[in-house]
Amino acid sequence: MAIERTFSIIKPDATNRNLTGAVNAVFEKAGLRVVAQKRVRMTREQAETFYGVHRERPFFGELVEFMISAPVVVQVLEGENAVAKHREVMGATNPANAAEGTVRKLYALSVGENSVHGSDSLDNAKIEIGQFFSGNEIVG
Ligand code: ADP
Repeated sequence: MAIERTFSIIKPDATNRNLTGAVNAVFEKAGLRVVAQKRVRMTREQAETFYGVHRERPFFGELVEFMISAPVVVQVLEGENAVAKHREVMGATNPANAAEGTVRKLYALSVGENSVHGSDSLDNAKIEIGQFFSGNEIVG
């Protein structure tokens, strides 16, 4: 299996509740290595661009407001099959449907305030990493 890098965000509902370490513990236990990490406050423009594919969805405005409501922790995670593994340990978008032991089952508050983001493909991971990190900030 290939070593991949994926992009992750620990969202405002989780940073507000001081869960950064708890979320990272789930990732690390799954074999994902944090190779870059920083706490930032997203600008409205960054959030709108990042979630641009959802611009026409009814929840877009709410999603952008949520993402800029408090600091987030943006990360690059590395490991075997990292994109799929990360999606697996995040759990389903709606915590009501998330499997036991996943971040969203453990910590998410609702389908919107669901604690984490993870890239859904290797191509999107590269794009999303580039939106928040320069090459020399990633230390594998
Ligand atoms: P995922 O984050 O699991 O890849 P999506 O790409 O479908 O899920 O949605 C992006 C984000 O938009 C979700 O993580 C969640 O924060 C928000 N979202 C998705 N669906 C809804 C909804 N029905 N109501 C409110 N927010 C939503």
